[in-house]
Amino acid sequence: MEEEKVTGIPEIYGSLVFNDKVMRERLPKDVYKAVHETAKNGSHLQLDVANSVAAVMKNWALEKGATHFTHWFQPMTGLTAEKHDSFISPTGDGGVIMDFSGKELVKGEPDASSFPSGGLRATFEARGYTAWDPSSPAFIKDGTLYIPTAFCSYGGEALDKKTPLLRSMQALSDAAVKVLHALGDEDVKHVDTTVGAEQEYFLIDKDLYLKRKDLLMCGRTLIGAPAPKGQEMEDHYFGVLKPKVAEYMHDLDRELWKLGVPAKTKHNEVAPSQHELAPIFETANIAVDHNQLMMEMMKKVADKHNYACLLHEKPFEGINGSGKHNNWSIITDTGKNLLDPGKDPLSNTEFLVFLIAVISAVDEYADLLRVSVATAGNDHRLGANEAPPAVISIFVGDELAEVLKAIDSGDISHMKKISKEKMEMGADVLPHITKDTTDRNRTSPFAFTGNKFEFRMPGSSLSIADPNIVLNTAVAEMLTRIEKEISAISGDDKDETILAILKKYLDAHKKVLFNGNGYTDEWIAEAEKRGLDNLPSLPDAMPRLVSEKSIQLFTSHDVFTKSELESRYEIFLENYSKTIHIESLTMQEMVRKDFISGMVKYEDKLVSERLAKKKLIPDLSGSLEEKIICKLDKAGAKILDQLESLEKDTATAETRADGLEAAKYYHETILEDMEALRATVDATELLIPEEYLSYPTYGELLFSLR
Ligand code: ADP
Ligand code: MG
Repeated sequence: MEEEKVTGIPEIYGSLVFNDKVMRERLPKDVYKAVHETAKNGSHLQLDVANSVAAVMKNWALEKGATHFTHWFQPMTGLTAEKHDSFISPTGDGGVIMDFSGKELVKGEPDASSFPSGGLRATFEARGYTAWDPSSPAFIKDGTLYIPTAFCSYGGEALDKKTPLLRSMQALSDAAVKVLHALGDEDVKHVDTTVGAEQEYFLIDKDLYLKRKDLLMCGRTLIGAPAPKGQEMEDHYFGVLKPKVAEYMHDLDRELWKLGVPAKTKHNEVAPSQHELAPIFETANIAVDHNQLMMEMMKKVADKHNYACLLHEKPFEGINGSGKHNNWSIITDTGKNLLDPGKDPLSNTEFLVFLIAVISAVDEYADLLRVSVATAGNDHRLGANEAPPAVISIFVGDELAEVLKAIDSGDISHMKKISKEKMEMGADVLPHITKDTTDRNRTSPFAFTGNKFEFRMPGSSLSIADPNIVLNTAVAEMLTRIEKEISAISGDDKDETILAILKKYLDAHKKVLFNGNGYTDEWIAEAEKRGLDNLPSLPDAMPRLVSEKSIQLFTSHDVFTKSELESRYEIFLENYSKTIHIESLTMQEMVRKDFISGMVKYEDKLVSERLAKKKLIPDLSGSLEEKIICKLDKAGAKILDQLESLEKDTATAETRADGLEAAKYYHETILEDMEALRATVDATELLIPEEYLSYPTYGELLFSLR
């Protein structure tokens, strides 16, 4: 039985994907070649080629039972968007044929006026265009052919996350190829960034989920006293999967495999009811698309299993939130991982150049990396003693620290000696750097893990396009600077000069290196001394997106125009304020309608019990009920006061026209009000029996899965 299931996987895998294999089998040779070229180098696709692909794609989709097609895109909401059109085309005699043209494949025009554009598109010019991205394969889901597309305005400005991502990959490729050529590696024509995103999530019972307005509207709980047990026993991390949860994960894997999403590793996470799924890494663009699909399928399959899948960064107070580790590297079209140190990193000049470029990029543009993961949800996580702090630093591990020390010593002959000794003696003076020896520091936001870097700040619900756009562009910039210096070298001692250049960059940026515990207050103080940015909240970080330095970086690599950056700045701020606004309104409603009414009902019950007792024993004095009633009364008065403050402050919040000012107000005033109210409500909840509350408690939510 089990055998049968396992042998089916290669047939199932990618069965709903119009992938390279299908194209090679079905497209005429020259058409296949043209599409391949376009996918790889972004060259323009001729209409006759598009027509030919469309016809084959349509027939393939019809065979798989599809009736519709959609351009699938990633607007600035951070989610995906789609609008389905059927293939039917009337024949004029009452019948239809199934039709799909090259034009329909290549270009779409959704009525896109309601997507956030941050002022890039006036309502009278509401048109937005979607353009086929042949570098990410089309697929079938729910009877519809999904065509990955980029989304832009009439004027060509990016209105999505895919366009700038593709631009940033191009920028990095151009810069990397140049530097490789300067180093004598002439064979490389193109490099790709590779990404593997480990995705964390919570699973809770759907019936319980549906009873909580905060989870329904906001994705996180806004009130709720902690359960007697949290994660302190550390018994969930990597624990045995519960049978029903295992069934869910199994089903999820199969659905993802059909869509060609290479789901690989699954396990329980630290918090109760928290899990993780990691795919095998892919080209960044595809990894981003696949992460979106993964999040969608997690929710969809959960629903089938009577679960709700929570992707919010902080669904529950007091236990870990969820993140998404962005594993990132660079691979050449000749198949070389440029962040693989090999057996002898010190004589691996290419590796050293790319390593120093990444370190320099992360230091110089740390604020932009922080911006790229800033959301209202993720702000609850960063720096909360469970996730990396809001300060960005790099962990390289002991071995690589030695390598950097050697470069920094500037003693070239010493370095050469180390490399030479190794060769002559055949022994590793510097051991081959393995994952095991480098991936120990879980507190670091940016860690070298053997042959890639792992950026651990992204939140679980985030589109990983954003951090990868920044990473690619920042590294492209540093490679460009380094390449210029290398190309200017004349004379014989090229190796020595290159190392001197790298030493210069290392000296300028080594302040970002930190191998210690990033969770401590000492580190935050030390980071400040070193001059590293600490940007705890989105309103603190966001202005950096439109700083001179940011504009210079993104425009010089053609990743964003100035107006694209400004529009994104507006959208992110607005999104932040709106999120907290909705949270505030939801909290008010829950406290007023659900919590207070539950509390009053319980008080009522206590009062009638007390009166009944009094009737029975007339000279009864000082009772249990009286004490609880007094406590509840006092708490109730405080809750009402705090609720009123929140209401009043929220009512005036929307009068602020300036986006940054509004976001700051939500951060400083509304979130504070909410926290104060929550503290009182949560303490009071502990006095009230569960049957009086109309929503499930933390204990039920977190410990009900079988
Ligand atoms: P961990 O110890 O964090 O579990 P793994 O080596 O299992 O590390 O990898 C975690 C993630 O990193 C996986 O998604 C994996 O595919 C991805 N990964 C591995 N190598 C690379 C690479 N060269 N580029 C990008 N991601 C990679
Ligand atoms: Mg990891």
